[in-house]
Order: sequence, then structure tokens, then C-alpha cells
Amino acid sequence: MRPVYLDNNATTRVDPKVVSAMLPFFTEQFGNASSMHAFGSEVGSALKKARGQLQALLGTEFDHEIVYTGSGTESDNTALLSALETQPGRDEIVTSTVEHPAILALCQWLQKNRGIKVFYTPVDSRGRLDIDAYRKALGPKTAIASIMWANNETGTIFPVEQLADLAHDHGALFHTDAVQAVGKVPMDLKTSEIDMLSLSGHKLHAPKGVGALYVRRGVRLRPLLRGGHQERGRRASTENAPGIIGMGVAAELALEHMHDEQTRVASLRDRLEKGLLQRIGNAFVTGDAESRLPNTSNIAFEFIEGEGILLLLNKEGIACSSGSACTSGSLEPSHVLRAMKVPYTAAHGAIRFSFSRDNTDEDVDQVLAVMPGVVERLRSLSPFWKSGEKTSFEPTYA
Ligand SMILES: *Cc1c(COP(=O)(O)O)cnc(C)c1O
Repeated sequence: MRPVYLDNNATTRVDPKVVSAMLPFFTEQFGNASSMHAFGSEVGSALKKARGQLQALLGTEFDHEIVYTGSGTESDNTALLSALETQPGRDEIVTSTVEHPAILALCQWLQKNRGIKVFYTPVDSRGRLDIDAYRKALGPKTAIASIMWANNETGTIFPVEQLADLAHDHGALFHTDAVQAVGKVPMDLKTSEIDMLSLSGHKLHAPKGVGALYVRRGVRLRPLLRGGHQERGRRASTENAPGIIGMGVAAELALEHMHDEQTRVASLRDRLEKGLLQRIGNAFVTGDAESRLPNTSNIAFEFIEGEGILLLLNKEGIACSSGSACTSGSLEPSHVLRAMKVPYTAAHGAIRFSFSRDNTDEDVDQVLAVMPGVVERLRSLSPFWKSGEKTSFEPTYA
């Protein structure tokens, strides 16, 4: 059985070219970039090259605008905490209900333990941000607005430039969690209003445990980690040289494959989506079909459990993910789908298929061959399922 990996929003395979670029930095070129000898300077110049590669992908002008971190989560946390510390008169955050836990859990902690006021901007049934509510939430006390570039579960893309402008009208900073967007959509930060942007290596075919925070020139950054002078004192820790160098090559490859991602990968995704909806009733796509990442499809199959679908697909060698997370024994559907008011009967059976440039037509064929049987089997066991049941939700995709 050929394994089919369609969970690329969870993590991606490290590209073999990335692996081979990294390998020397574990062996012969193991130096510490801060050292005053050849071992160090070799690594130093490799790090410099990697920075340039990442800058090209993001379209940034100045090399000191990129601060390497240990993950997307660290970048997100650094951005918000720094915004609060550098603007003592401002103690409010504006974010959304559909952010990644790297933002939401921190915001909840700040509310509880630091007395920070957080406004969670709602979304509509397609996952689109309520811009009016966002605008109203901004004010003279807003330290930072943080809205993701693209949602990891549905792929919905947010109008970050417009949102940054609105934040600036109130003198607030604007941060975007772009972990799912970097490498999938073109970016040109030098012409952008965005102040800070988070990204993560392992979502773009680089290894886990390396990320970056873009900090626009002139924006103050309060470091999360203090120690040595690495990253101009903005993130102390001996550089993760192999990781950073790997992420540089991954950025170069992402730029090279950008067109492929937007055309071939999107057409694989669309063929899977259309094929599943043709073959299976009482199913619909969640998210904004008009403004969506090219690689992501989230489909709700009504009256069954996502966990059941995943188990049966796993037996067929197919890996994807469900929106739901098992919280304290009760199965709660994903916070993203709940924020979109997708009914429980559908949100429970939501499955995310996320593609990458590694996927092929055969992958799509395999899912199309297996999925109708899986859904039929689970529905035959479901007490909620009656054939001919009308869908309880307005589909967003025809
Ligand atoms: C994966 C992800 C993160 C976290 O990145 P890590 O590097 O795994 O910490 C944050 N935000 C979004 C949108 C993600 O998809």
C-alpha cells in the first residue's frame, strides 16, 4: 500500500535538498558562528546566505528585519509580548476567534494573569473576518492587532494589508501569524504595512524547531530570551545553524515552486474536492472558496465522527486530519468551525486535506477510491444518519 500524506498543514517532509544543505553543518562545519576562527566564520557566512534566501521569499529589504527563533509559536509569543512591553500605555490586544493556539492560549493567559484586555474578532460562516467588529475593537489602548494571514484549518486568507492599515489608524502595531501562508502565497513585505510576521520552518519543507519573526525596520522589539549577542541581542541563543541554513534553502525552493503551488497543487486539491462532493452526499466545503490557500481543503461530512474517518483512512495508508481535538474526555469540534457556527452534526465530521508539492494525481485517485466506502460504513453505524436527510448548513462551494 502506497502511503498518501495529505496533512501538510500539520508538518511537511523536509526536502532532500534541504537535508543535504544541512548535513555539513552537523559534521565538518560544526562551528559556533560567534567564534573568532575559521570554524566560526564558515558558519557565519552560511547564516548570512540563508538570511538572504529567506529575505527573497518574504520580499524584505533589510537583513536585520529577520530574527530567527525556535518555532512559529515562539515568534507569535515574542511579537505579542514585545508589543505590550514596548508600549506601556497600551494594554489591549485585538485578535480573532480562529487564531492558532500559539496566539489564543497566550492571549487567554495574558487576560488572566496580566490583566490585558483581549478582543476576539468573530468570523462569518465562511470564516471571513468581521471587519466592522475589528475596526470597532481598535482604540487608543490597543497595543497590537494580531490576525493570521491564512487559517491552518480551512485555508481562509485574511486581508492583512487592510487590517494593518486599520490598526495603524489607531497607532497600534500589526502582527500576522503567517505560518501557513509563507511559501504558499507571494509576499512583498518591503511595500507592506505589516509590522511583524511569524513563520515556521517545518511548515515549508524545512526541519522542526526553527522559525523566524520579521520585525519591520523602526519597530522596537523586546527580546523574549536574554543572554548572548546573537541576532543583535534580540534573541539570545547559539544559532541553530543547520536549521537556519535548511530554512534558507527551503525558502529558495518555495520561491521556485510558488507557481506550481498555485496551479498544480491547487488543481489536485480542486479535483479531490469536486470528486468527493460528487460521490458523497451531505458533505460541504468549509472556509472561503474565493480567498483560500491553494493547498487546503476542509470538508464536513455530516452525521459521522472525524476520528472514525481518520482511523479508517489510516488503515488505507491515507493521512489527513480532523478539526476536532480531544479535550478532557469530551470530543469538542474545532474552535475554528465552532466560530464559523458550523452545526455540531457537521463540524464533528470535518476533515482537513492539506497538500504540498510532493503530492500527485495518484494520491487524489487513492482518496477518491477509498473515501465513499469509509463514509458509507460510518454512516451505516451512526444513530444520527438517515439517508435523504437535508443538509443543515448552507454550503459555501458549488
Ligand atoms: C503550525 C502553526 C503554528 C506553530 O508553529 P510551530 O513552529 O509548530 O510552533 C502557528 N501558527 C499556525 C497558523 C500554524 O499552522
